[in-house]
Amino acid sequence: MTRMTPLLERNEQFARTYTPAPLGPPAAQVFIVTCLDHRVDPAITLGLQLGEAVVIRNAGGRITQAVIADIAYLAYLAEQLFGGQGPADTLFEVAIVHHTQCGTGFLADPGFRQLATEATGLPEAALEASAVADPHTTVKADVERLLTSPLLSSKVSVSGHVYDITTGHLTTTLDARFPQ
Ligand SMILES: [Zn+2]
Repeated sequence: MTRMTPLLERNEQFARTYTPAPLGPPAAQVFIVTCLDHRVDPAITLGLQLGEAVVIRNAGGRITQAVIADIAYLAYLAEQLFGGQGPADTLFEVAIVHHTQCGTGFLADPGFRQLATEATGLPEAALEASAVADPHTTVKADVERLLTSPLLSSKVSVSGHVYDITTGHLTTTLDARFPQ
């Protein structure tokens, strides 16, 4: 018995009616970057099916160097394997989703951040960079950060959204744009 036991039983149920999705570009042509918070799972909030969207989750749903690297690689892979399958000259849209009541919001407070640095050994700058105090502000900053990255493919567009924990609604802050 582990804490996984009841979840493994759910997996048994799942596998009974499972149909594998073929290897291919994400059917919705969407790549979601969002927070690891267990209340904001995009498969649930956006009704995603298997094979529909790539999802990267980290603290805050922030655009870090590691996230940019993954997006750059996926764009390369999509073009090599499936180039020409989507609309001309587009691969996918990266939808960055930040949310209200984010646990990283505490890191915007310098006192809390310093204590967290001492307790975890993580660099204070890294903790500060993951803070989402106002999701409307941080999602705009991250859309700009990704759009201005030299690693971003010109065939990838970027949009910004905020998920409201209280209402369950996702609102678009910035419509999809391609890099200049
Ligand atoms: Zn969060």
